[in-house]
Amino acid sequence: AIELEKVSKSFGAHRVLIDLDLQVRPSEKVTLIGPSGSGKTTVLRLAMTLEKPTAGNIRVFGKSILFDAAGKPLSSSEEARMRRRCGMVFQQFNLFPHLTVLQNLVLAPRTVLRQSRDQAEKSALEYLRMVGLETKVHAYPAQLSGGQQQRIAIARALILKPEILLLDEITSALDPELTREVLGVVQDVARETKVTVLIVTHEMRFAREVSDRIVVFHAGRIIEQGSPDKIFSNPESARTRSFLKCVL
Ligand code: ATP
Repeated sequence: AIELEKVSKSFGAHRVLIDLDLQVRPSEKVTLIGPSGSGKTTVLRLAMTLEKPTAGNIRVFGKSILFDAAGKPLSSSEEARMRRRCGMVFQQFNLFPHLTVLQNLVLAPRTVLRQSRDQAEKSALEYLRMVGLETKVHAYPAQLSGGQQQRIAIARALILKPEILLLDEITSALDPELTREVLGVVQDVARETKVTVLIVTHEMRFAREVSDRIVVFHAGRIIEQGSPDKIFSNPESARTRSFLKCVL
């Protein structure tokens, strides 16, 4: 579903990603873990075209998000179309505080997909049900818990029907109970929509429970990957072991 091929990214002289190859299968849930600054978030930002790689190519369901068939960089409108194939949720929920839940949800379908109000509201209710918050349709963000706001943010990403869902530290601002609640929603969403999910998190319990596969980063490279059981119970790399020792 998503393929990074020999992707490098530098900021000035700082090489953040080095010749990275990563493949994520359709409907797979893959979590990137590793020390701070190892390049995990940069992978999500590249997939979302918020950053451009210094070298390499990135494909979403077979189609480059960077180049056209002739190998030329995409125009900004083609790029915008590609960007819509990925939905992203961040640590901060970024809901509009002066809009109700429903108004937050219908905004993008109305403006980006040019849906009618009826259509957009119908689909908003459908995704609110999926994240278990249909009763909060007329609430304002400030009236919701952090976990509920994050579930709304997930619904808001899904309403544009992305092929890939990118989750960047979505539980970092939440206490353990709310983290569980968001974890459950991610699992429900993955089961119901079959969307492919790429996750960055520092919460190893979240990573262990939600993922089909864990990919371990160190200094811009992948040092190891495998099932959660393998990575957490029987890691091969000494670097993985020392990273896990620090965070578990
Ligand atoms: P964390 O777990 O702390 O979020 P990470 O593994 O996600 O870390 P990235 O956020 O991908 O790491 O950052 C990798 C490196 O790239 C860091 O050293 C960061 O300072 C650097 N970096 C990221 N974005 C920029 C930028 N726009 N300009 C300069 N350096 C950047």
